[in-house]
This record gives sequence, structure tokens and C-alpha cells, in this order.
Amino acid sequence: MTPKAPNPIDLALFGAGRMGREVEAVALERGHRIALRLDRASNPDGAGITPEALGDARVAIDFTTGGSVLPNVRAAAAAGIGVVVGTTGWDADREAVETAVRQAGTGLLHAPNFSLGMLLFMRIVDEAARLVDGVGGYDVHLWEAHHRHKADHPGGTARRLAESLVARLGGKRSWDASLPPGEPVDPETLQVAVLRAGEIPGTHAVGVEGPDDRIEIRHEARSRRGFARGAVLAAEWLAGRSGVFTLDDLLEDDMTTRGRDE
Ligand code: NAD
Repeated sequence: MTPKAPNPIDLALFGAGRMGREVEAVALERGHRIALRLDRASNPDGAGITPEALGDARVAIDFTTGGSVLPNVRAAAAAGIGVVVGTTGWDADREAVETAVRQAGTGLLHAPNFSLGMLLFMRIVDEAARLVDGVGGYDVHLWEAHHRHKADHPGGTARRLAESLVARLGGKRSWDASLPPGEPVDPETLQVAVLRAGEIPGTHAVGVEGPDDRIEIRHEARSRRGFARGAVLAAEWLAGRSGVFTLDDLLEDDMTTRGRDE
């Protein structure tokens, strides 16, 4: 059971699918109220997001589809409320989304993965890449697996990991999730392998292949609960803040505050 939030707030939920339902359950456990709940039918092109419909909602949480993020954030910004975006697959709209938020003076916190364990994993992978790069002679790859309903391949977390690995590994210039037909892979391209099957909540593994041994670093989500918990904590943190943030900002702030209190 999730502990109660110190300051319960009214929330708006954009998306009522697998993640939206999980977020609602966690939000209610923490004592928050759901002022508005929108799905595809009640919110075409962000039309359901109006000041009247939002009522006393202070923050919205978006788990919809990549193409819905820009209209949803624009409508929420126009209504003066911040949005936590967990939806993936909207990279092409990122600049427009951030501009809408900055111009309105509202808040945005986005993360392709709200699991705190994934945040640790990303930091461990960054450090591993630095060490591997120093030693040399190892070939690194990335593997990710998700349930068969997922729309983006590779997912947003895998893209983030791939970009971070390419930036840190001297031997890799780019990443690719496809294989060149009829020819061997380019050793300077980081291979990203994608699996979609059953109901896998989300697995990411970084493989480090050497001539004599191999290392694997792996993160496995056990359920969607961890993502939902992170998104609700992010909404609590974003209430009353303006600007564009990621989960890193929340954690840095949390660690600094804790350090001060101790
Ligand atoms: P889903 O298909 O189960 O649910 C999507 C929901 O969005 C549906 O209820 C649909 O009606 C609704 N929707 C579509 N367009 C909408 C609109 N314009 N306004 C309001 N609602 C709309 O999908 P899901 O498994 O819940 O995943 C949703 C998104 O979250 C995906 O992009 C997925 O990759 C991402 N995701 C992120 C994390 C994370 O931690 N950041 C974790 C899991 C999933």
C-alpha cells in the first residue's frame, strides 16, 4: 500500500488505459482527488481540456499516445496547469511542447520511464559505458522487451539509453534497431534489439560482449505500479512549479532536501 501524500491535490488524468488506470489507483491511495479523467473519445485533439472541465485540478498526468501529447499540453498550458507526461513517442514535438509550456509559464515534467529503479539503472549504465570505453575490446549492445500492445519500437527508454551509450562509447557512432539485409552489421553502430510479446511490463538489458567473457546489466519492471508511483510523486512535486523538468530534477531536489534535513 502506498503511504498518503502530505498535501493531497486535485489531479486531471489524460488517458484511461493500462497506465491511466494504474495511476488513478496510486493517486487515490495517496489521498488525491481525480477532478477529470479523459480518454480518446472525450478528448479529440485536446478539446476536453478546458478550465471548466479541469475544475480545481492543479496538475494533469498524461499517459496517452505520442500524437496526443502536443494538443494536450497546449490545452493544459492555456488553462494554466502543469502536466506530467509519461507518454512516449513524441520526440518530434518536443520543441513545440516545451515552447507552449514556457510561454504559458506553467510546468512540465516528462520521463519515458517513471520507475526509480530505471533511473538508477540509467546511471549505472552511464558509469559502465565510461569504464568499458576505458578498457576497450568489448562490444556493447542494448536489448529491450515490452508487451505486444506497445506502439513505439524501440521504446522511449531504449532510445534514451542508446543515445547515452553512443555519447559515451568511443567505438560507436550511432545506434540502429534494424539489421542491414544481406550484410554484416557495422561495428561502429550500437545494435538495439527489440522484442514485443505477451504482457511484459518492460525489460532493458545492456550487454557487454568480450572475446572471453560477457557482462549483462539488466532492469526488469515487475508491474506498471512502479511507473504509476513515480508519475504521481512527480505530479505532487510539479504542483506550484513552472518550467520544464525531467525525473532527474525531482530526484536531485529530493536528495538535496534530504541532505539539508539530516
Ligand atoms: P493504453 O493504450 O493502454 O492507453 C492509452 C490511453 O490513452 C487510452 O485510454 C486512450 O483512450 C487514451 N487516449 C488516446 N488519445 C487520447 C487523447 N487525445 N486524450 C486523452 N486520452 C487519450 O497505453 P498505456 O499502456 O497506458 O501507455 C500509454 C503511454 O505511456 C504509451 O506511450 C507508453 O509507451 C507510455 N508508458 C510510459 C511509461 C513511463 O514510465 N513513462 C510506462 C508505461 C507506459
